[in-house]
Amino acid sequence: MSTISRAHSAHSIAEQLAISKAQLQAFDSAGIDSRLLMCHVLHCEPVYLMTWPEKELTEAQLSALRQLVAKRKSGHPIAYLIGYRDFWSLRLQVSPATLIPRPETELLVETVLALSLPQQAKVLDLGTGTGAIALALASEKPKWHITGIDKNTDAVALAKQNAQLNKLTQVCFKHSDWFSNIGDETFSLIVSNPPYVEDDSVYLQHGDVRFEPASALTSGPDGLDDIRLIIAKTKAYLAKEGWLVFEHGYQQAPGIQALFTKHGFEQIHSLDDLNGQPRITLGRYSAQ
Ligand code: GLN
Repeated sequence: MSTISRAHSAHSIAEQLAISKAQLQAFDSAGIDSRLLMCHVLHCEPVYLMTWPEKELTEAQLSALRQLVAKRKSGHPIAYLIGYRDFWSLRLQVSPATLIPRPETELLVETVLALSLPQQAKVLDLGTGTGAIALALASEKPKWHITGIDKNTDAVALAKQNAQLNKLTQVCFKHSDWFSNIGDETFSLIVSNPPYVEDDSVYLQHGDVRFEPASALTSGPDGLDDIRLIIAKTKAYLAKEGWLVFEHGYQQAPGIQALFTKHGFEQIHSLDDLNGQPRITLGRYSAQ
């Protein structure tokens, strides 16, 4: 028994945190997961847990917490249980209709912000999901005209909600299956974190991804079906000297660079993530 559990009653925040953490010990994130679930149940910020460790949970709170911990124990992603994930400087609502925003996607945002683009650039985010990329860019570049599209109407509704919550309502979110609903608009930048996992990847059998929509994750035997389609179609939607930027899997950079070359793009290059793996590839199209 820990010092904490001797000092506080069984229903106290401190004791319940210790119990949740023990229940979730199989996860590296047991401590943070327990705190996030507790905050969700108590509608409080993490600092409250430190300030009031002896506060007692009500029966209703205890039962809600136990249910959440049991779900987490069976693998449900923490973001789906608490309903949000922080990305860039934004808090984004999530739902099982979309992928949960990943920290590595912030590299895509950084890459785009480092490009030299017109002050009032027109930007298209393909497969926007929660709206993470489009909204992060809008938060940094209020003058850009940003459109986020998704083929899943639930995702479009969620992205619109996230725009409201983050007061970034200048971003336009609409339904489109890649370019199906884009008309004859052209953009200075097209960005995408498309599905890129191989259909039969063992990676899909463990962790949070088991609960995320396959349509947002997988894309054919080599994971490149959607990227191939987007590269082939993008030229018609890029303004002169426009950029196309992808996030992708760590083994896909050479294949994607070859596709960019095949379709006449220039300034093709890839950027590494914090683990030194190439995860972003971009190219520019001049012949317009
Ligand atoms: N980066 C995601 C993952 O590793 C995959 C996302 C995607 O396919 N766009 O789970």
